[in-house]
Amino acid sequence: MPTVHRTAVLVGGLTIFFLIENAAPLFTNKYDKWHHSGINIFFTLTTVLVNFVMAFILVYTADWVVANGFGLLQWTNASALVCVTAGLMLMDLIGAYTAHFTEHKVRWMWQFHVIHHTDQHVDTTTANRHHPGESVIRFVFTTVAVLIVGAPMWLVFLYQSLSALLSQFNHSNVSMPKWLDSALLLVICTPNMHRVHHHYRQPYSDSNYGNIFSLWDRVFGTYKVVDNTKLVYGVDTYMDKEEASSLMNLLKIPFAGYRHPIDHPTEEKL
Ligand SMILES: [Zn+2]
Repeated sequence: MPTVHRTAVLVGGLTIFFLIENAAPLFTNKYDKWHHSGINIFFTLTTVLVNFVMAFILVYTADWVVANGFGLLQWTNASALVCVTAGLMLMDLIGAYTAHFTEHKVRWMWQFHVIHHTDQHVDTTTANRHHPGESVIRFVFTTVAVLIVGAPMWLVFLYQSLSALLSQFNHSNVSMPKWLDSALLLVICTPNMHRVHHHYRQPYSDSNYGNIFSLWDRVFGTYKVVDNTKLVYGVDTYMDKEEASSLMNLLKIPFAGYRHPIDHPTEEKL
């Protein structure tokens, strides 16, 4: 059930944002869209598969926290309104921000997450370009979030739907008016904010980790503002186009050893 629901949101979101970014794109460079989407949709399917196989763990955990009164929402006997707002924010903090931050700091996790960063044409299909190993890592963080938050299954549904939609939105290659971006940015992560994370060099790739709420990057000092037209997508250790766009190679990267970030002689100011 959670997987059917999530797959419907994934397909619906992809279609909507794909249409919007084609109507009003930010970058208009020419590239092989079919090959690019093919790779990213393959990784979206493996993400769905991993979540399908493991879904029972999430359902069991959510039922268990409610039955045993375990977790923050259960201990505080929170009202429905608090459950929705605080619950979603904490699920986003633990299940997305912390998961993502950790993947950037722990080497073996980075070796899986780097596949997401090898994309040199970020668009809405990039959202689920996750190596199957990363899908497992993220699933573990989501399960831990359910335990800490004490999230009932309806909240997990709501969180996963919003999480999938926001990820597709903030990766989309859409050009948005400044006023709209500024207004949305007060609450959620917009494409203008998240694209900075896909710049090919540090320190920009180590900023703007958020997925749903922009608050966490502001609170933890990882928030950066950059003129998006100056960005170069990718990751400096895998800029070779062949290497970054071969499916077999991408699947093998996590097991091929750690590559140190390239020492750039000057700190880049964007
Ligand atoms: Zn990242």
